[in-house]
Amino acid sequence: MREVRIIDGYDMGFPGRTGTYVLQEEKTTLVETGPSPSVPHIIKGLQELGIAAEDVEHIVLTHIHLDHAGGAGLLLKECPNATIYVHERGLRHLADPSRLEKGARAVYGETFDDLFAPILPIPKEKLVAVTEGDTLSIGEDRMLTFYDTPGHAKHHLAIHDSATNGLFVGDTAGIQYHQTEDCGVTFYLPTTSPNQFDPEAMHHSIDRFEKMKPDYLFFGHYGTCGKPTLALEEVRRWIPVFVDEAEQSESMEEVEENLFERVSTHLKDLGVPDGHRVYPLLKLDMKVCAMGLVDYLKRKNR
Ligand SMILES: [Zn+2]
Repeated sequence: MREVRIIDGYDMGFPGRTGTYVLQEEKTTLVETGPSPSVPHIIKGLQELGIAAEDVEHIVLTHIHLDHAGGAGLLLKECPNATIYVHERGLRHLADPSRLEKGARAVYGETFDDLFAPILPIPKEKLVAVTEGDTLSIGEDRMLTFYDTPGHAKHHLAIHDSATNGLFVGDTAGIQYHQTEDCGVTFYLPTTSPNQFDPEAMHHSIDRFEKMKPDYLFFGHYGTCGKPTLALEEVRRWIPVFVDEAEQSESMEEVEENLFERVSTHLKDLGVPDGHRVYPLLKLDMKVCAMGLVDYLKRKNR
């Protein structure tokens, strides 16, 4: 396939957690920036690919959550000739990130600064709002097409790449856990973080992905997947399980514990032993998923 490179952004210090995709075409294009602490990794990665930061022309964001787009303002300082493409619902929050920051502080508490600071506002003239059906030509025969794909967030885009028939799915199609490859297991889970998780919309977006018959999925977390049908099927199966666990639990802590238990049991059945490095990662993820599920049930039952 035409090259789709990924630069590891070492989100939260973990390798293979969040990355920036690089499309080396006439117009050098990046997809996702990760959070601000990832920016030095991106600059180094670009250097290794022989790309000058000034030559980056397009930066495409799947959604504005800080682990995907929080570094956009800082990266723009290094890539002054780039234009940033973002869902029309997300644009104003990049121009004025105060609400975004407040929301993330509520989720991440005192770890916020280490994980995300600084969040720099982006000048409006550097931002382009995109929505369903918009396209961006990045080379003579290479076109990106944007799709409005809610479920994880209402300001979420998926991006189709004509050269690879691949889809950049951000977080809408969940997380690809490759950390268990050493056990012969790659698994997929939905990501239901606050505060716009919508299971029906997520199902619908995943159905759309399937109908597009992509050859590859490029996950926000993390990397390329050459078996889209299998991955999408697995995420779709877990969505109602996550919602059920939340509905049957009494407290946030219980949701978190039950989800972790449920997923861990599944992994142990697949042969991923106790003490594997994936479990601490899952603990973190299930904590954030639990918050989003509780938030969803509150909105639903209002
Ligand atoms: Zn994410």
